[in-house]
Amino acid sequence: MQFTDLELIDPILAALTEEGYSSPTPIQQQAIPLLLNRRDLLGCAQTGTGKTAAFAIPILQLLTADKAKQANAPRRIKTLVLTPTRELAIQIDESFAAYGRHLNMKHTVIFGGVSQHSQVNTIRSGIDILVATPGRLLDLMNQGIINLRDVQYFVLDEADRMLDMGFIHDVKRVIAKLPERRQSLFFSATMPPDVAKLADTILNNPAKVEV
Ligand code: AMP
Repeated sequence: MQFTDLELIDPILAALTEEGYSSPTPIQQQAIPLLLNRRDLLGCAQTGTGKTAAFAIPILQLLTADKAKQANAPRRIKTLVLTPTRELAIQIDESFAAYGRHLNMKHTVIFGGVSQHSQVNTIRSGIDILVATPGRLLDLMNQGIINLRDVQYFVLDEADRMLDMGFIHDVKRVIAKLPERRQSLFFSATMPPDVAKLADTILNNPAKVEV
């Protein structure tokens, strides 16, 4: 199978060619059509399987379609990706930059341990996609700098690690602020009962993908 078999728009196909990707990985082959059909997704996949592109590519395409319907609408946070570590957050943000380089989407990444000043300035300038670690996100939400009421696409990445690192309460506080009507994607390398239970509270009739 080729990326051209996945009904992707030309600006994304061009970016993938420029990245040097020739064909989609198994999780991409399975997840991209489901996500373009606006299904919720439960993905059991490790890092290294291409899972970041499996969610970033269809989200960029859906955002582009949504934007075409609402020309001139102000930029608001339409996509939230929650991930446990700064390193993962940076990698995910770079993926949105790479696959979206021919699209007009603004994205940024926030994490703790550094000054919030430049993060806040970028958010105030208007973004479509926010990649965040839970602590800094809640901090900026509590300060009234970020609100999540326009989020349509929500990704919880590395859920098992999130729980191992003690982020369950933070994650639940974030989820409580998301609109009910949204498309949710949940990724975890392992699916022990507490992770499966969390997935149940987030997802609505999810398609399941395992690689
Ligand atoms: P991930 O599992 O998202 O951490 O991705 C692992 C690595 O695979 C990253 O360096 C990606 O740039 C790369 N990658 C993702 N999808 C593809 C693809 N279809 N072809 C080649 N490399 C890919």
